[in-house]
Amino acid sequence: MEFNQSLRGIKIYEAGKPIELVVREFGIEPEAVVKLASNENPLGCSPKVAEAISKNAHKAYLYPDDSYYELKAELSRRFNVKDNNIIIGAGSDQVLEFIARALLNQNESVLMSRVTFAMYEIYARQMGAKIIRTSSYQHIPDEFIENYKRYRPKIIYLCTPNNPTGDGITKDEVFKIIDEVDRDTLIVIDGAYMEYAMAKDIAYKIEPNDIIDRENIIYLGTFSKAYGLGGMRVGYGIANSSLIRELYKMRPPFNITTLSLIGAIEACRDAEFVKKTIALHQKEIKRYEKFAKESGFNYIDSYTNFITYLFNNNINSTRISDALFRQGIIIRDLASYGMNAIRITVGTEEQNSRFFKIFKKVIM
Ligand SMILES: *Cc1c(COP(=O)(O)O)cnc(C)c1O
Repeated sequence: MEFNQSLRGIKIYEAGKPIELVVREFGIEPEAVVKLASNENPLGCSPKVAEAISKNAHKAYLYPDDSYYELKAELSRRFNVKDNNIIIGAGSDQVLEFIARALLNQNESVLMSRVTFAMYEIYARQMGAKIIRTSSYQHIPDEFIENYKRYRPKIIYLCTPNNPTGDGITKDEVFKIIDEVDRDTLIVIDGAYMEYAMAKDIAYKIEPNDIIDRENIIYLGTFSKAYGLGGMRVGYGIANSSLIRELYKMRPPFNITTLSLIGAIEACRDAEFVKKTIALHQKEIKRYEKFAKESGFNYIDSYTNFITYLFNNNINSTRISDALFRQGIIIRDLASYGMNAIRITVGTEEQNSRFFKIFKKVIM
């Protein structure tokens, strides 16, 4: 059978390894496995969210309110936008997919950082679009502007802060790029880790309200990271209502589940939980920085809930990742991104201590 030609260049996305795999392969007790690979919230989700989901479990037979009225009302309040500025997706991943399908074809190209979220490329390739990357792994505004002028891409992806590197760009830098780009190019600002970035340095805070007047910019957010709802699959796009209207044409009905919707609404109402999440993170990431300095290797200053350790030639990231995996520690090897580096999600105090202990053994 002949598949679409656009599928040929696509590498299947490799998700973070699940705990079950370590249990199956090495017979390690599930409780002993430390998963620091998918940037999930180490505190889990808000207890109020868990309670709301259990209390409403019997509603599993019902389709959700397809207007997502209540969730949009919560987001409208938080971001000071109108409900027609919002589209809800099964994760912000699904919004990325809507965007690619709405705008791309084999005559178009997309621009992104050399190392960034893998799904941008996959969705763009599905549509046959050409991939252009900047030369640095960091987001360098001048590199984006230069490549924009040369190739006139249909979409520019700004992942700030960036996954899997953890670096970000300030609001001023984002606007430096925006100001050079005309209305035929969509700028996607992926703020999956914005809660962490703005808590660290307010100069990195980009508010959807800053961009909704322009028809060619969309801001993406998710409940999967700071809100601890990765398993519920809820994300959102915020943009000018004219852009949202077009993206709605791509959306299947009931694209998030009834219980995901209930969980996300409840999550919006528990700001305390996010505060606690950020406080724990800020305390624990310092240990990772100190550990790297003491062990004599470099890391990327992180604006996210993970940290990226950079190795020189005497350490191989894949060998380290495999050795950790065998000991029940799951982290992310960045070899497939062309980097000799690992990405570690900052966990609970106990998880991090265990990581340090085993990592010390493994790098000897
Ligand atoms: C996690 C993540 C997302 C979205 O995840 P969903 O679970 O699909 O909402 C989007 N972009 C980046 C950079 C991410 O790390």
